[in-house]
Amino acid sequence: MPAPEPDRAPARRSARFAVIDPATGEAFDEAPDQRPDELDAVVDRAHRAWHGWRADPAARTTALRRAADAVERAGDDLARSLTREQGKPLAESYAEIARTAARLRYFADLAPRTRRITDGRPVHSEIRWRPLGPVAAIVPWNFPLQLAAAKFAPALAAGNTMVLKPSPYTPLATRLLGSVLATALPKDVLTVVTGREPLGARLASHPGIRHVTFTGSVPTGRAVAEAAAASLARVTLELGGNDAAVLLDDIDVDRIADRLFWAAFRNCGQVCMAVKRVYAPARLHAEVVEALAQRAKTVVVGAGTDPDTRLGPVNNAAQLARVEQVTKQARADGARAAAGGRRLDRPGYFFAPTILTDVPPASPVVTEEQFGPVLPVLPYRSLDEAVDAANGTGFGLGGSVWGTDLDRAEAVADRLECGTAWINHHAELSLAQPFAGVKNSGVGVAGGPWGLYGNLRPFVVHRPREA
Ligand code: NAD
Repeated sequence: MPAPEPDRAPARRSARFAVIDPATGEAFDEAPDQRPDELDAVVDRAHRAWHGWRADPAARTTALRRAADAVERAGDDLARSLTREQGKPLAESYAEIARTAARLRYFADLAPRTRRITDGRPVHSEIRWRPLGPVAAIVPWNFPLQLAAAKFAPALAAGNTMVLKPSPYTPLATRLLGSVLATALPKDVLTVVTGREPLGARLASHPGIRHVTFTGSVPTGRAVAEAAAASLARVTLELGGNDAAVLLDDIDVDRIADRLFWAAFRNCGQVCMAVKRVYAPARLHAEVVEALAQRAKTVVVGAGTDPDTRLGPVNNAAQLARVEQVTKQARADGARAAAGGRRLDRPGYFFAPTILTDVPPASPVVTEEQFGPVLPVLPYRSLDEAVDAANGTGFGLGGSVWGTDLDRAEAVADRLECGTAWINHHAELSLAQPFAGVKNSGVGVAGGPWGLYGNLRPFVVHRPREA
């Protein structure tokens, strides 16, 4: 009797969704809108691949180094794809790709330490570190590649496999990155899935996932934590920020103005740890506003593909509407735009770089995360008032203090309630440092060895000491 025919029903093709170029507002491509059964199959394969991947740390190191080389080789294609869907200038896309490769190399060479505890008992306790299993990474649209790398580099180095979901606003560069990484990694060790909601929610609550590492907004972070509670998976949340820059009265405004401007406006202000509020001594307030406004009025805004562009568009229509709305609200509250203040009259999601003054401290542009090219500059009369205001929101990602006397600046920085405080610059991170927000800005620690251990669990073996 002939063997029964295997099920030959053709695989159903995923639906697709449009991807929009923010510089034109037009759809230019599409990506798969993956179904729940496809996600189940991906998680299942990630689980099977885990058993081989976890077994050989030396092979992991080699594969991750090769992955870094492959990312660099694909730099031109990745940069073009990233700029087209995200909007950032090409030079910034190249920088993001360089950081993606650097993260892979950093974690390729990092290994957990086995420790032995001998505390007088007749046993040794040996602490070893074990991977968790398939890890889900969910990332936003502002730095799709480098934020994904901040998750997959430590997770894979630790011996886990990964299912990575980019934002539906920026799926294409991540899909391309997935195929580039696949040339260096064993099959199914890292899989990119794309789709609109509820794909992220399903991934976060999937019973086959042992760690959900999420970067995005505070409300979605809460939803992810709730979803992951279903399987009691570990959760790491890197959430929003509303970083303050506190300027001291001994600053030289001309000297710091460029650095301060770019700390707020890089990536069109769409940076979790951008400067989102400036506090200037009342005596210097007008000079600071003028210096920032002059830069906002002259910076070249355009498509990221144009080599002259320094500031691209806002990434998507919803974010543009939000930026417009908080700016309108601030003006209704009494603020004045020293530069910008409105959408640019051209196709695409362009908003004029905006410096706001006379902003009431309770206006949402101060108390919430604007996440766009709009910066309120507020005067203060005493340092205590400035520190209280800097610490006075629900966020606590980063903050900075700007002054000529570095000891004095550091003493003020020490009073900021946040994960990272900078002096005379903002948002520079070392690969080797811990990265963690306080208050609503996050749960768990990423970066450096802490990021590696965040993807591991301790396993302790007790054995009698030798006689
Ligand atoms: P978002 O929270 O809207 O989306 C983030 C990701 O979650 C996307 O992939 C999205 O598709 C997915 N998602 C949406 N709903 C979901 C759900 N119910 N369950 C699971 N996943 C879901 O954030 P965004 O608008 O893409 O990004 C901007 C935000 O990200 C800002 O608040 C910014 O500060 C924050 N951010 C934080 C960091 C950090 O390291 N702390 C870094 C970059 C950006």
